[in-house]
Amino acid sequence: MNSPTSRRVPIVAGNWKMHYGPTEARDFAQSILDGLVAIPSVERVLCPPAISIAAVHAVTAGTGVWLGAQNMYFEEQGAFTGEISPLMLRGLCQYVILGHSERRHYFGETDALINRKTLAAFAHGPRPIVCVGERLEERDAGQTERVLTTQVRGSLTGLPIERLSELVVAYEPVWAIGTGRAASPQDAADAAALIRALLAEQYGAAAVVGVRIQYGGSVTAGNAGDFAALPDVDGALVGGASLKPDFIEIVRATARAKG
Ligand code: PEP
Repeated sequence: MNSPTSRRVPIVAGNWKMHYGPTEARDFAQSILDGLVAIPSVERVLCPPAISIAAVHAVTAGTGVWLGAQNMYFEEQGAFTGEISPLMLRGLCQYVILGHSERRHYFGETDALINRKTLAAFAHGPRPIVCVGERLEERDAGQTERVLTTQVRGSLTGLPIERLSELVVAYEPVWAIGTGRAASPQDAADAAALIRALLAEQYGAAAVVGVRIQYGGSVTAGNAGDFAALPDVDGALVGGASLKPDFIEIVRATARAKG
């Protein structure tokens, strides 16, 4: 199922993971800023570690380059040591990555928890980028569709139908993350179509036309254009390559492919 793409602005987000403290983060953001500012047809999102968000904001504010957090809790405030609330991100971050596979697998995040966080993002801002994706053993066992179905139904239930165009879903096959082994464009297209169809089951086809779906997993300047050329893929969630000036090339390749 290919959906009309005209209403969807491509979005490329860089997940810096646990790299770059405040000073390095600010300096790196500064070094790629002009290159990113020059490609306004793509939404560009930098996702530094939480402690570096304010430092990066100091250089990106007013440029049109957005910030994202890598995680947040669903409560507004309180005795939740180590957590960050959606209200704290407001004013700094336009996006938040939720349910990244590293959060799911190293920190035990479940679909139910990710769903509460996603609902909190809709309630308070920032906009959620919700990650789904199968592990290698699940793919090898022919369970990709089952895993994606469980994750989409579990983590993306009960969302406000009239605001679904604020949702971004990142298809990130776990075996492709940080491995240098990207999925094929056909795999990404199949997954994106399935994700959109699953959302359509819940919310209706018209409501999900504006949902953006990214591909993530070993995206590089060399392959970004192949993914962005897919009608149902609206950009990329980038890990390793977002820590380098290559990120600009990924955004440029996306702009060119969607052009
Ligand atoms: C990620 O962590 O979301 C990711 C896609 O990483 P990488 O691009 O390094 O595979």
